[in-house]
Amino acid sequence: MNDDYTVTQIDPWTFRGTQVYGPPISWTGKVTAIRRRHPNPGCPLCAIDPHCPQHRNPIVDQITVANLITTLGINWIRTALSDSGFDPALRYMAWGSGTTAAAAGDTVLDTEAGRKAITSFAAGATGVMVSTTYLSPAEGNGSLAELGWFATDTATATVDTGVLIARVLYPGGTWVKDAGYSLQLDRTDTIA
Ligand SMILES: [Zn+2]
Repeated sequence: MNDDYTVTQIDPWTFRGTQVYGPPISWTGKVTAIRRRHPNPGCPLCAIDPHCPQHRNPIVDQITVANLITTLGINWIRTALSDSGFDPALRYMAWGSGTTAAAAGDTVLDTEAGRKAITSFAAGATGVMVSTTYLSPAEGNGSLAELGWFATDTATATVDTGVLIARVLYPGGTWVKDAGYSLQLDRTDTIA
């Protein structure tokens, strides 16, 4: 039957009037581990400041790796769109001794050994956020094999709490931290 109607498929990438349909957006994460040697573990300034003016605490190692965004992480954004009562903030960085490769289905670390509230956030270019966590010489000592970032107000100081948005094996391989070193972990999320 010819009813004189035709269906036209419009390419979503084309301009329609004044509306512009942009390209898809991606979300990527990377982690930089900055290890500093603390030549004077007894120095009270070294204990709190990675740039202790007396000892200068040189960077001995700095490595950046891409990380995996989990399925929970992607659905974290989904929930943020729909739930007005949802508090999405990224709250804790956790470390552990597990060495299983990161997988999209991860919901906790293999073996969480400790966690610390994110120390600071710094907005970068459009869509970029750097979340920094600083472990002093006294903190996080032991085997650092895996790292994870936990979000929402369900994340507390208790292990395995919160929404694991990303997990990564320690950049460069497992490192056994001791009180002679501090560690700064800069997580960069880019949504672009
Ligand atoms: Zn010092």
